[in-house]
Amino acid sequence: MQNKKTTTDLSAKHFSRYGEFLVSFELSKHGWNVYNPVYDEYIDLLIHKHVCKDCGKTWNLTPALTCKNCGKDFSKTQKNKIIAKKVCASCKNEMVGNKTKCTKCKSEELLNRPTCDECKGEVEMIEHACKCGSKKYVTKFRSIQVKSSRIEYKNGKSKNTYAIDMKPKDLIKDENHFYVWCLIDDDDRPHFLVISVQDFIDTMGDSLKGISFFKDQDRQHFSAKDFGKWNNFLNKFDKLE
Ligand SMILES: [Zn+2]
Ligand SMILES: [Zn+2]
Ligand SMILES: [Zn+2]
Repeated sequence: MQNKKTTTDLSAKHFSRYGEFLVSFELSKHGWNVYNPVYDEYIDLLIHKHVCKDCGKTWNLTPALTCKNCGKDFSKTQKNKIIAKKVCASCKNEMVGNKTKCTKCKSEELLNRPTCDECKGEVEMIEHACKCGSKKYVTKFRSIQVKSSRIEYKNGKSKNTYAIDMKPKDLIKDENHFYVWCLIDDDDRPHFLVISVQDFIDTMGDSLKGISFFKDQDRQHFSAKDFGKWNNFLNKFDKLE
């Protein structure tokens, strides 16, 4: 008989790392590239993305390989279909394959001509442009602090609450800094709260001036059913944009 293992079997240290990974994957779904700082200075993840300046869609920085004539895109899966054609500089003879000399005039001056397999047009490398027509992109950087919680239990009984520790040193007052709280329910499902530093300050209100917060003893307990006053921030990944 093997017992099913859950997140509750992780040590506190491993659980905190687990939360960082879950948040990383979730951020990837939203188009962010995720990086780990070398030192932990209250920032757990650095994220960045390139988006179209005009319509906000994810921008591809790698150039595209496209047929000049018919527009066929070879960038992704079609690269092996590009025909390796060589053209003789003197007699214009066209050859396919790894030739070093013209098969007609024996000239060694051959020009490469990557060729479209469908229309025989020339394949060229072009800079990415957005479908909306824009040729401009912007780069966004954000820093993220991750805090994770499992459901709280007392004497083996579920309290149906989560608990997050927040300290004055976590208040990095930068508009590009955010908290992501990763909350794991009893079915091992994650829930994410995305909170800006200002959101946190506003939601805490006067308790931010409380002695327990000053003394690093503040612990936010809130309902695991509706996330209490933090409910507004559920899945608010759009805040990062
Ligand atoms: Zn666009
Ligand atoms: Zn073509
Ligand atoms: Zn030739």
